[in-house]
Amino acid sequence: MVPMRLYNTLTRQLDELPPPPGPIRMYVCGSTVYQRIHVGNSRPFVLAMWLRRWLKTRGYDVTLVHNITDVDDHVYEEAAKLGKGSRELAEEATAWFVQDTDDLGLGRPDVEPRASETIPQIIAFIEALIAGGKAYESEGSVYFRVASYPDYGQLSGARLEDMVAQEPNPAKEDGRDFALWKAQKPHEDAAWESPWGNGRPGWHIECSAMAEKHLGPEFEIHGGGLDLRFPHHENELAQSRSRGYPFARVWIHNGMLELGEEKMSKSLGNVVTLRNVLDVWGREVLLLYHLSGHWRKPVDFTDESLESARTQVESFRNAFRDPPPRTAATLVWDDFVSALENDFNTSEALSIMHSWRRLGLVDWLEDALGIFGLETLVTEEAAPSAVHDLARRRAEARAAKDYAQADKLRDDILATGWEVRDTEAEPGYRLVRT
Ligand SMILES: [Zn+2]
Repeated sequence: MVPMRLYNTLTRQLDELPPPPGPIRMYVCGSTVYQRIHVGNSRPFVLAMWLRRWLKTRGYDVTLVHNITDVDDHVYEEAAKLGKGSRELAEEATAWFVQDTDDLGLGRPDVEPRASETIPQIIAFIEALIAGGKAYESEGSVYFRVASYPDYGQLSGARLEDMVAQEPNPAKEDGRDFALWKAQKPHEDAAWESPWGNGRPGWHIECSAMAEKHLGPEFEIHGGGLDLRFPHHENELAQSRSRGYPFARVWIHNGMLELGEEKMSKSLGNVVTLRNVLDVWGREVLLLYHLSGHWRKPVDFTDESLESARTQVESFRNAFRDPPPRTAATLVWDDFVSALENDFNTSEALSIMHSWRRLGLVDWLEDALGIFGLETLVTEEAAPSAVHDLARRRAEARAAKDYAQADKLRDDILATGWEVRDTEAEPGYRLVRT
């Protein structure tokens, strides 16, 4: 079997994952919740959910942690603008985030920790850094001593000697130091108690602490948008390594969505939200759109690219409605596997799927679409949850080698007008209308 390889920002090469079953522990930086998330924020979520599904299909034991940044400058600023409490806004926007990402139809990450629920671990982390001489308290805030970490810049290529202070701050020993804990400011309506007075954590330490809490001091994959490579991920790495942790081995950074010449980002205003895109184009078109670009590359986000995705969605749906006569394959399942094992090249996988569509090879196509949450193109109609319950019980019976019970459940499912088909992809079956 070909080993799974991913491009690692840290080593600047394709690195192999350990052989199955791993484990593969993944931490992917999530969204800051203060408004409906931008469509660009759907890319790391979709990539992480697809990668988890694929790795499970390949026999890996995978744990995906995707955090929710609910304590951040943006939350305070937006709440003040709206005249509401920052905690209230964070709660509301967390619910939007869950609802909008739910509607992608890819399931949920294994753990979705919130910064606000991790304060004790964050404080303990900062205390350990202070005890080790890597951080210092000043005027109720705590700063990371950047000069104490000689490897600073190894992830992003930033050079310590070229770095200059972004804004003068007399509380810092060195203008390049960054905040781990921020003393409460007069306009901030919420704060947490700490050994340094009331305040709240900085953004970077939140992720170091949440990763440690849920995955331990060392894990296999750390992901996020390319815009997080510096300073966010550089600072996470500096903090965690300074605590003596190996931290993440492979760093994956997805390219940004581009609207015209400008990088799309929430701070630009005039935002295109994930909610809008789901409402106007639907989840299948958005997923197909994400499938068509390599995760590392920037992708244009235009009406033309969405229109092209819609055409492709319809072409796949038609392949099941009215399949062309089967023709011998030039590209087989192993080619599809190779495309994904080689840096998770979904655009190459997509072109193989189109070749199967043209040749009427709908069995492979069905399995492949299922990996990317596009099984709805096969069934058209979603099976009722009662039928899904029967299918799940059948999968459990099969796993327990109780084949008599599995056969009985298959017949029960048939009696409801659905047929259960076994697949390579998670969850191991698909329901098709008879
Ligand atoms: Zn993060």
